Amino acid sequence: MNRGNAMHRLIHSIRPLALALLALLSQPAPAALNVLACEPEWAALAQELAGDKATVHSATTALQDPHRIEARPSLIARARNADLVVCTGSEMEAGWMPLLLTQSGNARIQPGTPGFLETAPLVPRLDIPKILDRSQGDIHPGGNPHIHLDPRNIARVAEVLRDRLIAVDAANAETYKARSSAFLARWREATERWEAKAAPLRGLTMVVYHKNMAYLSAWLGLREVGSLEPKAGLPPTTAHLADLVARMQREPARLIVYSAYNDPRAAAFLSERTRIPAVMVPYTVGGSDAAKDLFGLFDDTLARLLAALK
Ligand SMILES: [Zn+2]
Repeated sequence: MNRGNAMHRLIHSIRPLALALLALLSQPAPAALNVLACEPEWAALAQELAGDKATVHSATTALQDPHRIEARPSLIARARNADLVVCTGSEMEAGWMPLLLTQSGNARIQPGTPGFLETAPLVPRLDIPKILDRSQGDIHPGGNPHIHLDPRNIARVAEVLRDRLIAVDAANAETYKARSSAFLARWREATERWEAKAAPLRGLTMVVYHKNMAYLSAWLGLREVGSLEPKAGLPPTTAHLADLVARMQREPARLIVYSAYNDPRAAAFLSERTRIPAVMVPYTVGGSDAAKDLFGLFDDTLARLLAALK
């Protein structure tokens, strides 16, 4: 056999492969939508609805207090490239979001544009103050912003977020519609399952750390009888903890509940002195190993509350 011929055949056999590879490389990578969420719960929801059509980042993690982060340069860079920003609003991010928006120089994500979505205004809010008195601590005139621990609020936000994804990326509208319908169907089923599972928690009395469980409590009929913070947003003080110990010795709550991002020491202090069990809940996606997504967040929160009662 002639060597020239063999070489010719070899080139022939790899040529289609090489051409296919070349075609693949020269194709522009699908331009994924850049979504920047202020909190992990909205990042998780955006990912559920957008799938691989979006690259989603969260400005905060479950181990950070969403009220108190800094608009650091890496975050400003993310905001500069974002096509859609999803935040809570109702003053949750009042300490850092205005600066981040200004510094981003990104006209597509400014308030009033389709690229800027706040979720709290989309749901009925709790704790709207009757009088605005800042001496009562971090008062939110728009009501309690920690809306995501009621799964019915997640469903309300999902519908509006779907429409925003479509508004900023119409080319993928069908994907967003299909994924949202599938998500909402699974979510409604899960919500019913959670409500059944949480029945034994109804009427449960608890001391919370911050008023960030209010929507969970309202949904499941839990009763918050105290908080480790003396006033909303202020860290626990010795005097306030001493008061709580005395009060809990007279009239004990069933549980002390704090979030993954809270310093656990005040809860441990109260628990040791009152024998009331203290339980950490993930609060948002990523706050525990099991809270890998929004479904895991609710599964794990209920599992932890139920286990602490045993
Ligand atoms: Zn708060």
